[in-house]
Amino acid sequence: MITQERDGWELPDWQRQQADLITDPAELLDLLGLTPGDLPSCLAAAGDFPLRVPRSYAALMEPGNPDDPLLRQVLSVPEELREQPGYGADPLEEGEHTAVPGLLHKYHGRALLVVTGACAVHCRYCFRRHFPYQSHLSGKRWDQALAWLAERPDIHEVILSGGDPLTLNNRRLAQLLDALAGIPHLRRLRIHSRTPVVIPERLDEGLLERLANPRWRTVLVLHANHPREISASLADRCRQWQRAGITLLNQSVLLAGVNDEVEALVALSDRLHEAGVLPYYLHQLDRVQGAAHFAVADAKALELHRALRARLPGFLVPRLSREEPGEPAKTVLAG
Ligand code: SF4
Repeated sequence: MITQERDGWELPDWQRQQADLITDPAELLDLLGLTPGDLPSCLAAAGDFPLRVPRSYAALMEPGNPDDPLLRQVLSVPEELREQPGYGADPLEEGEHTAVPGLLHKYHGRALLVVTGACAVHCRYCFRRHFPYQSHLSGKRWDQALAWLAERPDIHEVILSGGDPLTLNNRRLAQLLDALAGIPHLRRLRIHSRTPVVIPERLDEGLLERLANPRWRTVLVLHANHPREISASLADRCRQWQRAGITLLNQSVLLAGVNDEVEALVALSDRLHEAGVLPYYLHQLDRVQGAAHFAVADAKALELHRALRARLPGFLVPRLSREEPGEPAKTVLAG
């Protein structure tokens, strides 16, 4: 839907929302009817990873609840400032896997393109919250990465990541997709994004046209963590995309105070299934500095997974896994 004109250009609804994010914690708390008692500590804890929240995502939060699981994912807290042994700026040692700026090569046959450093939302648990985007995205941006891919016939899958690749507009994405389509040994395109979860309108017709392309079978991996994030609007769009031939998966992060309860995880899988999205991974937290308060002990994670298996058919139980630096694949703790 086109809803606004600016400087003679029509701006799609999702871009208008992305340009009008909530960035002031006081405004967010006020919208939710909360008092800003802890605000100075919230501000200090945000550091160089400030608040970014789309208004449509804030509308899914429960007013008056300071412990709302959606609010907890976006509002900085003083615990972020505590140093924790074992937690660092690059928990997955991605610096070691940078083949050329903008391209990470960790796993056999696959390569990950860091297409942007921008996100529609800032998630406090993000393992790339300290990522050096400037050194990956400066200069000629994707040229070196595309040249590297063209010379590697052993790479069959390209993963668009970031930041969030779906913060780019359709024209910019089309330029990238056209360039990738010209590399004959690339057979699979995978996109990881949280943008549709916080701004469902991002799954628009123009993007669908570009991705429902017979050149390759596109896999879109959504990042939803809580059942309330699967809004009716998101579910409608996902079903439409599934009918158009896009494979839709979801991966979640197991987060204390957000989704570390059986009922929340069961409801998440149910709602994903109703939307045509397959629950795929439930990740243990990557140990990034500032996020230790989200960690769930392995013993509790395994217990939750056992309970999920008892409640859901196997195809709706995500694999409990952890990414460990240096390993050739994710470590599956329970399948
Ligand atoms: S959208 Fe993804 S990359 Fe961006 S802050 Fe959230 S978790 Fe990190």
